[in-house]
Amino acid sequence: MNSKTFDQLDLIEPLLRAVHAEGYNNPTPIQAASIPELIAGRDLLGCAQTGTGKTAAFALPIIQRLNAQPRKAPPRGVRTLILTPTRELAAQIGDSFKAYSRFLRLSHTVIFGGVGQMPQVRSLSRGVDVLVATPGRLLDLIGQRHLRLDSLEIFVLDEADRMLDMGFIHDVRRVIALLPKNRQSLFFSATMPPDIVRLSASMLTDPINVAVDPHASTVELIDQRVMFVSRSDKRDLLRHVLSDASVTRALVFTRTKHGADKVVKQLGLGKVQAEAIHGNKSQTNRTRAMDNFRRGRTRVLVATDIAARGIDVDSISHVVNYDLPNIAESYVHRIGRTARAGKEGVAVSFCDTEERPYLKDIERLIGQKVPVETDHPWHVSGGPSLKPREGQAEKGQHRSNGNGNGNGNGKGRRRNHSRPGKAGHDAQRVSRRSEPGKGAQHKSC
Ligand code: AMP
Repeated sequence: MNSKTFDQLDLIEPLLRAVHAEGYNNPTPIQAASIPELIAGRDLLGCAQTGTGKTAAFALPIIQRLNAQPRKAPPRGVRTLILTPTRELAAQIGDSFKAYSRFLRLSHTVIFGGVGQMPQVRSLSRGVDVLVATPGRLLDLIGQRHLRLDSLEIFVLDEADRMLDMGFIHDVRRVIALLPKNRQSLFFSATMPPDIVRLSASMLTDPINVAVDPHASTVELIDQRVMFVSRSDKRDLLRHVLSDASVTRALVFTRTKHGADKVVKQLGLGKVQAEAIHGNKSQTNRTRAMDNFRRGRTRVLVATDIAARGIDVDSISHVVNYDLPNIAESYVHRIGRTARAGKEGVAVSFCDTEERPYLKDIERLIGQKVPVETDHPWHVSGGPSLKPREGQAEKGQHRSNGNGNGNGNGKGRRRNHSRPGKAGHDAQRVSRRSEPGKGAQHKSC
């Protein structure tokens, strides 16, 4: 239980006002552990993912430090750089800075690829206090001399493990090489594979080490279920799941971009309006789809892992894994989109015969079995403990009587997927390690 209040974190009054205006009552564990140390100027190694409140954990102290020493960034210079893997995440971090600094005078800019660079160049020309950027566009603009990093005071590397997954790690190293040695550095990663441990060690000086256990922060807070189904029945099962009244806002994950488009099309045929976001969509398209989803105009958003990175939409009632991810860590990232900010959340995973090894990997990572939901018309028996027999799905049998109500009409008794409320952020476990790097050898922290 996290008993600190915002008032106890040494924050100045305009930030306290902004936090209250955002509707936050109490700091999340990572905020309580990090904010005072960051205000004091310490480096930080944060093992945490989105959904834990980590953006405010770094944004609030950064704003406070910049405000305490009001100096102007030189033309094309920046005082703070936040490097983040995706455009969505960059935009959301930019929004957070805007919200938290609303009662102070601070300039901030967001830059990412896939859109024209001119407006970005213009906003950088006079220098900015806070720049949020993706690595490719940042290096592009540095190469064109529209941006310089020699006046930088604070550097944040966000989602370092995802940078590695997405092949940005060399770009990240190039950026780090351009930073002044004398700076405050913050490093966030949801998992700690060896490359990431090495990178953090090269970047940080005597950091405080804060780990929000993802098991506690997401996995244990979410009502998880797996549904065994044959691949050809997934589309019907999806419609069935989405027809439940408790599904107010659903994020559906597919493994491929093509798969995402196909699901949107199939849902459309069944008069379920959905939109897709993935790497092949234009930025305008992605922004519009996100906006529609955020405002509740679209109830269902279909996404691939990379595009979904950084989706920060409150009140996602359900995450549906239409395909199970082949990388177990992605499962934790995906389901962490629901049950945010203390809200309830349900994660439903469809698992066909070929995906059962993925399920095993996931269960090993999260250290628990995902309960099997058999109460649906397309249930294929034989859980992960039974050896899957290729091509022997017992579909026909279960179509007739597998729906739990014996009517054989393919309309199973609906299960209300909602769950009793839980303490949300309060239930996250946070550990602080005084020795830098200690404990960071674990792949997931
Ligand atoms: P993040 O982990 O930074 O992506 O934040 C996840 C969500 O939690 C965002 O929607 C934030 O607005 C929200 N949030 C951050 N801090 C708090 C807090 N102290 N209390 C309630 N919600 C919060």
